Parts: sequence; C-alpha cells; structure tokens
Amino acid sequence: MWQIIGQTKVVTFLQRSLETGSLAHAYLFVGPAHVGKMTLALDLAKALNCQATERPCGECISCQKIASAKHADVQVIGLIQNENSAEAKLIGIDQIRQMQHSASLPPFEGSYKVFIIDEAELLSIEAANCLLKTLEEPIGKVMFILLTANDSLLPATVVSRCQRLELHPLAAAEIESALNSRWGIEAERAKLLARLSHGCLGWALSAVSDDGLLQKREEEMDRLLGIINGDYEERFAYMARLAVQFNQNRGLVYEMLGFCLDYWRVLLLFKIGCSYIITNIDRLAELIDMAQGYRLARIKAFIESIRMAGEQLGQNANPRLVLEVLMLDMPGKEEVARKVSLPSYR
Ligand SMILES: [Zn+2]
Repeated sequence: MWQIIGQTKVVTFLQRSLETGSLAHAYLFVGPAHVGKMTLALDLAKALNCQATERPCGECISCQKIASAKHADVQVIGLIQNENSAEAKLIGIDQIRQMQHSASLPPFEGSYKVFIIDEAELLSIEAANCLLKTLEEPIGKVMFILLTANDSLLPATVVSRCQRLELHPLAAAEIESALNSRWGIEAERAKLLARLSHGCLGWALSAVSDDGLLQKREEEMDRLLGIINGDYEERFAYMARLAVQFNQNRGLVYEMLGFCLDYWRVLLLFKIGCSYIITNIDRLAELIDMAQGYRLARIKAFIESIRMAGEQLGQNANPRLVLEVLMLDMPGKEEVARKVSLPSYR
C-alpha cells in the first residue's frame, strides 16, 4: 500500500523493479517542493524492508517504524541546525562521511539500508564529490535516494549515477478528492486548498494543520491590492523597504515576486476565459472585478516585467533600481478602463 497519492507512472515503475529484482542502487527523485518526494522515498524504504508478502503493507512493525522515523536502517540526511541554532546553508562533507560509514555496516534490523538525502541540491561541492565515490561503487543491500526540486543545481556526475524519476504536480481534482476521502476535510475547504496548492498535496496538508499559511496569503493579497490601488509615493516607499530587506533575506523578496506573478497570472486566466483553472476561488468576485479593469496586453506586459525583475535580481542588479522600475511598470487604478468588452469568462 503506497502512501503517495497519484504519481502512478513512477509508482508502477518502482513496483515492477521490486518484483523483478531490477532496482537501481541510487535514485534521484525530481519534483517541486511538497509534491510527495519524501513520501515516495519512505514508501520505497518500506517496500524494501517490509515483512509482508504485498510490499509495502504499511502495517508490519518495519513499515510502522519507518513511518515514525524509528527504523535503524532508514536515515534521512538534510540541512542541520548548528550550535547557534541558525540553520546550516549546505549539507556538509561530515554528514556524507558519517553516512558512508553507516552504509559500510550491515543492516541492523531490516534487510536493506536506505539513505534519503533531502534537498540534495544543497550538498556542498566537497560533500557531492565525496558522495560520488559511494555512488560509483554500489554496496549490496544499500540504497541511496536523492530528492531535489532542481537537478540542474547538482553536479552532472552525481545525476548521471542515479536513476532519475520525475514527480509532477497533481490535478486539483485529485488533491481535492484525497483531502476529502483520506483526510476527511470538508468539501468546500478541500476544494479551496486543492486549488491553492498548485498541485502539491504536501502544501495543502500543511495548510490543513497550520492556519497561519492561509492567513499569510490573505495578508499578502491585501497588501498587493493596497499597492495596486495606491499612489506612486506609497509604491516607492514599499519597494524601498523591500530593497533593504533584499540584502538581509532574499527569500522574502522572491516570495513577494512569486505571489505577485501568481496574482497577475490569475487576472490573465480570467481574460482569456480559463477561469476554471483559477486557484483563488475564495476571492472570485474581487478578481473578476480587477480583471475587467485591465486590458489583456497590459496584464501580459506586466507579467513579463515581473519575470524580468526576478532574473535581474538573480544577476545581482541593484535591487532598489529593479524594484522601482517594476513599480513604474505595474498597472495602476488610474488605468482601469471599466466596461471593456470581454470574452465570457464563466
Ligand atoms: Zn510492511
């Protein structure tokens, strides 16, 4: 019983490899954050160590231990907290050396040792080189599973020594149905979370247990609307604050750009009559109203400006300059041309 939802192609492939004894010694699971890479890796670890005939059963002592991270032969390697409790920025060589030592010992309680490297793109150069030696010389009954959202950030030598399997975002209907039937989320909430998750069930499940995620999204939406409806003085003041933040926390600024892109993309979908795939179904009326206000070409042009701004920031352009230009490009309330003839968007 595989816990992962969807990803049928990959699951079928792995199941067949298990049955025919043709498993690789190293896998690379590639897919966006929260799409289910870790769930699939744990499923595979369970299948390798399961005591039942139909593997993974999810019920034997081995499967249960793996599910609760208590199995001695299944280890997850990722970023660790250092002494100052600040998060490390890379997976270090010491972690890989420890893993190699552990891999050289026989399984302790199961039949397979499984090492899962989460966010493998964060391996330091030394750590990746060190790992490479292990990947080049397979050890019996030991499997390595690397997880990443972006395999182009990993050394090609590491990628080439793994069996690469890609996980794709799920359809909203698939997530909605899983939330409803497996996690008992009531229909309306399941529908909203499924649309907001961009195909990543893990995000929807985080939002189920953490109301703060939806709250944060609401605040971001209100702030963005405030900026769109505000005058240039307000816009520049906001961008000046963001530019200062950029030097301390780039992630926050990229997150804002992502949110902004998402928002204008929704308006674009309305304009071209694809409202059925829109995520923000909780603020539908507001978005319809906004979309009516702008011409299609203007929305498209601004989406391009957001993409450009992201690219320029990545190339170390002056953040204040980039963000100010973006503000100048953003369509404002003064541009709103009401009652423009529209294609039907319902
Ligand atoms: Zn089992």
